[in-house]
This record gives sequence, C-alpha cells and structure tokens, in this order.
Amino acid sequence: MNDDLMQAAMLYGVKDLRIEEVEKPEVGLGEVLVKIKAATTCGTDLKILQRGYLERIIQLPTVFGHEWAGEVVDIGEGVVWPEVGMRIRAGNSAPCLRCRMCGRGQYNLCEDMLWLWGAYAEYIRVPARTVLVNTQQIPQHISYEEAAIAEPLACVLHGADRAGVKLGDTVAIIGAGPIGLLHLLTARKLGATKIIISDLIEERLMFAQKLGADETINANEEDSVEAVKRLTNGHGADVVVEAIGLPITWEQALRMARKGGMVLEFGGCPLGTKITVSTELIHYGEVTIRAAFHATPLYFKRALNLIASGTLDVKPIITRRMPLKEIAKAFEILEKSKSDLKIAIFP
Ligand SMILES: [Zn+2]
Ligand SMILES: [Zn+2]
Repeated sequence: MNDDLMQAAMLYGVKDLRIEEVEKPEVGLGEVLVKIKAATTCGTDLKILQRGYLERIIQLPTVFGHEWAGEVVDIGEGVVWPEVGMRIRAGNSAPCLRCRMCGRGQYNLCEDMLWLWGAYAEYIRVPARTVLVNTQQIPQHISYEEAAIAEPLACVLHGADRAGVKLGDTVAIIGAGPIGLLHLLTARKLGATKIIISDLIEERLMFAQKLGADETINANEEDSVEAVKRLTNGHGADVVVEAIGLPITWEQALRMARKGGMVLEFGGCPLGTKITVSTELIHYGEVTIRAAFHATPLYFKRALNLIASGTLDVKPIITRRMPLKEIAKAFEILEKSKSDLKIAIFP
C-alpha cells in the first residue's frame, strides 16, 4: 500500500459505511497524528448509522467512529505536548473556552464545539484545539481498548453527577446496554445500595447481574414500572436513569421515581420527538427531571483515571474484537446480537 494512503471506514449516509483507501492525514500547526491502536463501537454510532445524524455534530462524508486510543507518530509545528511515541487518547469534543456556555463552565454545551470523528481508521489527526483541551496520556498498564472506553464513561460520569447518586440510594436503570451497564458500575461505586436494571433482552440482564445488579426486570415479561414499585416497597426508586433514548422509556422513567426522587433522562431520543409529563408528578410528587448531554474535558480525564486506577473495570463491556475491514459487519452484529455490547476494532 502507498505510504500516503490509509484504510478508513467512510460514512456517506444512513446505512452507507464503506472501507476505503483515503489520504493519510498530515499534521499542521499544533496538530498531532496518531496511529490508532484500538477503537470501540458506540450506541451513538449505531444510531447515526441507522437513523441519521445532526449536521451540527457530524458532516458527511467523514471517517466514522469517535472512541479510540493510539500512539503519537507525528507532531505539528508548535506542539509542546504530547511527544512522538506517547500513548494517548482524545475526547471527541473540544469546547472553545470563549462562548457564553464555556464562560459559565458548562463546556459540554459549548456553542462552538469542535467535534472529532475518525476512529475507524489507521490514523487520526487530532486538531490543535483538541490537543490542548481534551487529550490524555494513557498509562502503560492499561490497554488501548480500555482507554477508548473513557469516552462513554465520561458521559456517564457527567450524568451520574447530574443525577446526584449518593450513598444508600436505590437506583433504577432502564436499559442494560453498554451505557446502562456503565451507569450500573458507577452507581455502585457511588454507594447505591440497591440497583435495579430493566431490559427486553434476557442475556443482557444476566450480564448485568454478573456486573453487580441487585435486581433485574425483563420488560417483556412484566411491567417495568410495576416491578420497580414492587422492589421498592411501593415507593419507587430514589434515582431513575433512562439509558435507551426513546420517548416511551423517558416517560416510564418518570413513573419509576419515588416522591421527591430524581429522574435522569440520559439516552438521546430521535429528533423531533416529545414526551408528556404529569404536572401532578412534578408538583405534588416533587420529582426532579434532569437530562445529561455529552461530557466536559474534566470528565474525560476523570474517566481515564478511574479506568487506570482499577476503580471501574470496564473490560467486560468489550464482548468481541474485530479487524477494521469488518466494521460494517460489526455494526450488523450489534444491531441483531443479544449478547454483544461493545466491539473493539483493530486497524
Ligand atoms: Zn461513544
Ligand atoms: Zn464554547
């Protein structure tokens, strides 16, 4: 293969993902070129592939994927850190630090966010702003695939902070996919004493049990709202986390919370959708409803630290490993599979 070319998974549109030889990026001022050592699939990628995307966040065609880790192979003019040979990962977003939202410290809501795509390729060019704002060095003792999971974990940590999970809480999680499971691991570390998780797929529930869920609900077999009530002496959960991203489960989450409880609507729903909320629930029930979008650079750093210190073991969430050229097949597997959660992709 020509040295100036690389293999990459190009996204052209809904359900149109192709492996192609494209030009290997070159570094400019402040930029860093990374040889990708591992990337991981993400529910967000699957959603974009199946049902489209927000143009603000991804412009097509583009190299696809956003969870990756690798080794620096070239640095542009003016780069003082990182060095060639360093193991790094970068967040898929870099806030501008100048807009109104950044000025209030709400970096995840930056009005001029720079998004970074291109994980499913041999190389990725990290833009200067991302190098400065949201790039982390990976400690030697953790694998590249684990480091890649810092991205979804960062989002989950941000969500858990918004939900205020604390010692002694009963937490109900809707959805036992990778995000629901990361919420499970995080809630446990934060001191939740009872964690209930619901899903439609039995295999996933069994997996959640292995990861420490106290109670599982198969939503095919019983009404999950009733089940949460039954498992909480009729009260409902202190904190409910919706980790699917559908209006119907967003509404379900509201009915699972106890009086005075907290609902974290975490999963992003299809564009244009709405939910109905009972005014009584909010008024007489004093239920707080919060959502969480993405994460800030601080959470990316914290996520990697929690993985590196062994505080959170994210390894079990990677259930399969595949080469880059089979990326389209990897997403087909994720769409149909009952037991696959995240697939690590190797160029
Ligand atoms: Zn992701
Ligand atoms: Zn900003």
